[in-house]
Amino acid sequence: MQRILQPGDIEALDRTSLLRVRLPQPVRLFADRAARLAQKAEGHPIGDYLRFLAHIVKAQQAAASQVHTRAPDAALIAQACQHGMPLMPAAGHIDTAWQGVLDLLIGAARQAPALPPALAPVLDTLRDLPADARDALARRVLAGLYTEAHDLAAAPLVMAALQVVFADRASRLKDSDIPYADPATICPVCATPPVVSVLRIGAREAGLRYLHCGTCGTEWHMVRVKCSHCESTRHVRYQGLQDGDAHTDEVVTAETCGDCRTYRKLVNQEKDPLAEPLADDLASLLLDLLMGETEFLRASMNPLLPMSDAGASA
Ligand SMILES: [Zn+2]
Ligand SMILES: [Zn+2]
Repeated sequence: MQRILQPGDIEALDRTSLLRVRLPQPVRLFADRAARLAQKAEGHPIGDYLRFLAHIVKAQQAAASQVHTRAPDAALIAQACQHGMPLMPAAGHIDTAWQGVLDLLIGAARQAPALPPALAPVLDTLRDLPADARDALARRVLAGLYTEAHDLAAAPLVMAALQVVFADRASRLKDSDIPYADPATICPVCATPPVVSVLRIGAREAGLRYLHCGTCGTEWHMVRVKCSHCESTRHVRYQGLQDGDAHTDEVVTAETCGDCRTYRKLVNQEKDPLAEPLADDLASLLLDLLMGETEFLRASMNPLLPMSDAGASA
């Protein structure tokens, strides 16, 4: 006797067949990002800033190859999986190794071409800050709770250091360690909202949409019909730089949701296999300017841009 699968069964079937989570490979992640930033910098209106970031991300790549973070905690994993909660909400799980990474990145920033004028005076202050004050700054930056000019200027470098340690910790997890976190709109590893989503190519992930965490680099699957901010399926649309709806020939489009009135970009690797979530987001600021004239608010910010999170709907 045969029976028709119920929705729950179909979901269970899906869970076993598709690649649910893409855990980061940090050295590769930063290498790809640096290359993409350098490529996009050519002739770009914010080319100097993209070139500066390419230099910093290369330093992240070097730091990622030598950083030592704590091993994942089995008890923490079991608890998170049991309760469907993210494994290590970022602000509460900052690995002490981030301090050394920050020192490396401060050194790299000094050598960088086109050091942004706002960042230059911050480097010495950051270097001389006691460890506990740096930790407090890191927590403010992770929570998006900073308005001081100094914090704002320092934020991208602080986030860059945190990315290295969080990506390292995430890379040491196994797929089976990752909880089915609720809500599905935050990173199941570090509880950060995704920066952008990405349509991947590749053997097991071809054509699947993943949400990309800007803190730990983990990507988790979400079906494209759902809004990546409120999970509504009713009014999701796409907007590109060219006018009109559903311009699927563009690498980066904005996914808008008529229910929560936010947008989040979709980076499409089918249109360009070298597209990288954070780099392509930064290189498509023009689309943000266009979206700024619409009713839709950007759902979450790019951690490498010195910009307050205040405008985002949390
Ligand atoms: Zn994360
Ligand atoms: Zn929505």
